[in-house]
Amino acid sequence: MNFYVTILGSGAALPTGARRCSAQVVNINGFKLLVDCAEGTQDRIRYNHLRLQSLTTIIVSHLHGDHFFGLPGLLSTMHLCGRTEPVTIVAPKGAREATETLFRLTGNHTEFPIDWVEMDFAEGMQRVFANNRCTVDAFPIVHSVPAYGFRITEVPRGTNRARVYAYCCDTAYTESFLPYIAGADLLCLECTFANELAELAEQRQHLTAGQAGRLAAQAGVRQLLLTHISARYKEPEVLLHQAMEEFENSLLAADSMRVEIGYAAGKVYVQGAGSENEE
Ligand SMILES: [Zn+2]
Ligand SMILES: [Zn+2]
Repeated sequence: MNFYVTILGSGAALPTGARRCSAQVVNINGFKLLVDCAEGTQDRIRYNHLRLQSLTTIIVSHLHGDHFFGLPGLLSTMHLCGRTEPVTIVAPKGAREATETLFRLTGNHTEFPIDWVEMDFAEGMQRVFANNRCTVDAFPIVHSVPAYGFRITEVPRGTNRARVYAYCCDTAYTESFLPYIAGADLLCLECTFANELAELAEQRQHLTAGQAGRLAAQAGVRQLLLTHISARYKEPEVLLHQAMEEFENSLLAADSMRVEIGYAAGKVYVQGAGSENEE
């Protein structure tokens, strides 16, 4: 009865030794969902002892390189390792053309089938994936290219209630998607800038720490997880403190951190910063 998130990359656009760019693996009762796929994601999967070939589903928030450029390399490695199992990829429109064009021009291909689900809608929430472990609903967020947030809901077993993980990265401040993240057990929001750089955040369509905290408070979530930390912050605790002024249950993501949504009381807690070990 596991539901946890392993952070593969918690940094913003510029990867550093301390923080790689956006990618996470969400484990819902054994089913693993890769969320975003920045350059280097396949390396971080290996580093965190996750098996690449066990991934069957990848969801991508938007096509900026720090969320998408790892995908062709990851697919290529799956092929080189002999994969025959299909992969489902949920991504904004254009992802398929970009990937297939790159493969065509560079003489690469995959033997395994890819089931593309391309998102191309500007309002509301749409179901983009479902299996016997979870459902994934997508909704537009506000960024310089089409971008989507995700609401990942467990298919509950027995009498337990469904746990919910919501992910929004990258987005400008808006209250338009509040209904779609409402009541989540764990909400992961981007937090690129400190409050002092609110003007820059607005220009680049990102959130400040305070804005992330405010959204979490308004959405009535249990726990906020801050990610997409700008490389300029050598001491990123300032972001955590600013978010906590708006929403106390805030947590700063770190690479290889694992955050678990506990079951018993529906309480969210942090398992620790260790990496996942998989048999
Ligand atoms: Zn972006
Ligand atoms: Zn980004």
